[in-house]
Amino acid sequence: MKKIVFATNNIHKLSEVRAIAGPRLEIVSLSDIGCREELPETSDTLEGNARQKACYVRDHYGVDCFADDTGLMVDALGGAPGVYTARFAGPDCLPDDNIDLLLEKMHGVVDRRAEFRTVVALACADGSCRTWTGSVEGDIAADRQGDGGFGYDPVFIPRESGVSFAEMGPEAKNVISHRGRAIRAFIAEIDSI
Ligand code: IMP
Repeated sequence: MKKIVFATNNIHKLSEVRAIAGPRLEIVSLSDIGCREELPETSDTLEGNARQKACYVRDHYGVDCFADDTGLMVDALGGAPGVYTARFAGPDCLPDDNIDLLLEKMHGVVDRRAEFRTVVALACADGSCRTWTGSVEGDIAADRQGDGGFGYDPVFIPRESGVSFAEMGPEAKNVISHRGRAIRAFIAEIDSI
């Protein structure tokens, strides 16, 4: 079985990605390889950040590594928070702070269209680095809906489901989610890499 590092310690993401990859890949986390430092993420694009994280782990730990970077692009906010999605409400903010700020900015806004986009980058020991992208269109809810998932899940309603990500089970979310799509595109090619 191919062993590969996923540049995350987020248990939600790890279990989502392991479920998508199935038994053909052994996916380990950053803590599994003793990587405790913060990874560099200084690019102003999702692709740049995903590449930066994957290449950092490959270069410092000598392992094949993939990383993802996700942004929520809200039309009425000119594409914000975009690459700043995790830090929307400030450098050390909690997911709830981000949701509160988003709901405040979207208060009374009629056009609620938004898109989640994920870029996955795979950095291999041979020096190569490739990327895959997945996205899902939806709308920002007027209030929180549901208590599953993580991050912005309670306020993102994918067009394809009509209920928020937080109201869908993880399997249903994986089928249509930005990360699910990006990871499946990546996994589909992994055997030929
Ligand atoms: P990251 O690039 O995966 O760290 O994600 C950036 C930001 O997007 C963080 O605030 C995450 O909580 C949020 N995010 C990423 N994926 C999802 C998702 O599937 N649902 C809700 N929020 C997400």
